[in-house]
Amino acid sequence: MKKIVFRYPFMVFEKCECSNQVPIREMKTTSSTNSIKLKYSLNCPVCGKDINRIINVQNNITELTDFINAFKVIPAIKDELAIIKLDTVKAKLKDNGKLNLYGNYSHLRFWDNKIQNDIIKIGFEIED
Ligand SMILES: [Zn+2]
Repeated sequence: MKKIVFRYPFMVFEKCECSNQVPIREMKTTSSTNSIKLKYSLNCPVCGKDINRIINVQNNITELTDFINAFKVIPAIKDELAIIKLDTVKAKLKDNGKLNLYGNYSHLRFWDNKIQNDIIKIGFEIED
């Protein structure tokens, strides 16, 4: 069984019902024809809840926003870091059968006060 692992500059969290966020460091993956299953188990250190998720991803968009938060660290000047929170988190199988995790990020451009909408790909590594 393979797994996908999240590393810097990405941080992925399960939103627990108690309002704590539990880090998701990896998801086990099972591939079959036209779908990938993502599976992970967590325990919330605040309320003690066991969280077990199985997400079936196909070539249409699967919304993960209700239970997952994703952040990306953007290196800024010198010692500072900027962390952005994606507005949405989605999963989809690309035409080549590869998993695509991504989200929308909208922000106000400081130079012209327009809302810019970006799609940010959530990077991960595949390990055995
Ligand atoms: Zn909790």
